[in-house]
Amino acid sequence: MIPDLIVLRLGELTLKGKNRHRFEKAINEQVRRVLRPFPKLNFIREFGRVYIELNGESFPHIAEKLKKVLGLGSFSPVLTAPLELEAVRLAAQEAMQAAVTDYRTKETEIKFKVTVRRVNKSFPYDSQQMNKLVGGSILRAVPGLKVDVNNPDIELKIELRDERALIFSQVVEGTGGFPLGTNGKAMLMLSGGIDSPVAGFLALRQGLKLEAVHFHSYPYTSERSQQKVKELVGKLSAYAGDIKLHMVPFTSVQTKVHQAYKQNLLITILRRAMFRITEKLADGSGASAIVTGESLGQVASQTLASMNAIGRAVGIPVIQPLICMEKQQIIRIAEMIDTFDISIQPHEDCCTLFLPPSPSTNPNLRVVESIESKMEWLEAELDEAVKQTETIWIQEGGQRHSHASFF
Ligand code: ATP
Ligand code: MG
Repeated sequence: MIPDLIVLRLGELTLKGKNRHRFEKAINEQVRRVLRPFPKLNFIREFGRVYIELNGESFPHIAEKLKKVLGLGSFSPVLTAPLELEAVRLAAQEAMQAAVTDYRTKETEIKFKVTVRRVNKSFPYDSQQMNKLVGGSILRAVPGLKVDVNNPDIELKIELRDERALIFSQVVEGTGGFPLGTNGKAMLMLSGGIDSPVAGFLALRQGLKLEAVHFHSYPYTSERSQQKVKELVGKLSAYAGDIKLHMVPFTSVQTKVHQAYKQNLLITILRRAMFRITEKLADGSGASAIVTGESLGQVASQTLASMNAIGRAVGIPVIQPLICMEKQQIIRIAEMIDTFDISIQPHEDCCTLFLPPSPSTNPNLRVVESIESKMEWLEAELDEAVKQTETIWIQEGGQRHSHASFF
């Protein structure tokens, strides 16, 4: 079956009250953005629904793009037919044949039902009559089927609209969630690991617009690990459009802190420094939260005490979408968004530079603050790191197409 058009449905969350219009608009913009490479498409808005006429463009290619539009609940490929009984029956047979071919895994009878909705009341048969007329013709034309209205394997839906009939059975799941950027903006702290890109995806799906922040210790960490981060952002931008990536040189801060303090709270102090730099970047970008990839208990440093001591370094909320997720669940999402294979490539982490012999898993906030208060040069160091930050735009696929320093 080669569909004539696609019908789009919003995610359930988007049905709520006055936000609906704003969400619809945001989704439509994104749909048009991702479908720009298909010039023959025709977009139709009708009674709060969006249809895309394919005009010969490839449904499978378009489906891949639509699966990445945040806030889209689902969509269906649709056959159309003129408003005339025989034409509707023929199209229904064709759609059912295609659905059966997709469905059939073993040679048992497939249960189906036909659900007709007559929007156009001038059509001569009502929906009950049409259910029988179309269902009967399908039974005669497609072998191996049985009607079961209570528990069908396949439900073929037919809408008799003003101009034409729409016929479909397949429902393709979208990402759901909120449309891009409809819940504000946050800074994503992105390492090269598995977790933070997944945290970024979940934040995007919750309607947050993101800018990414990566700390590197060049030349102690390689160009390659920076490249890896750019590729990860490239994967996220398939959902988000172009994303800003701030590359923060962290070597100087690390070296100075390490010269002043080498004990077991070193990692806590360095992480606090990373958070404070991120907060400064957030201020400059109009972002009002920080997103990170911690998962409670996953590694020794991800304890409540540690997260408390680190999170309190900043005054804006720290969002940790993975906090209660299992590693397997995180990995499944990483595979789905295609970041897993990039993340597992070996890389150096800036935080492993100058690791103390036994990092504390139970840092005391007062002690940490008192150590920091003796580093009266620290604030100026953080400001300098912000100043030296290189900001680049990353497109889908990971190329960069322009760059500027943060200020
Ligand atoms: P990930 O898999 O995302 O690397 P992780 O399990 O290795 O996370 P940590 O090393 O404890 O965990 O880092 C916790 C979080 O801190 C990361 O998920 C990320 O949000 C942030 N982070 C760590 N290193 C960096 C870095 N070099 N640049 C930016 N953010 C970082
Ligand atoms: Mg990591």
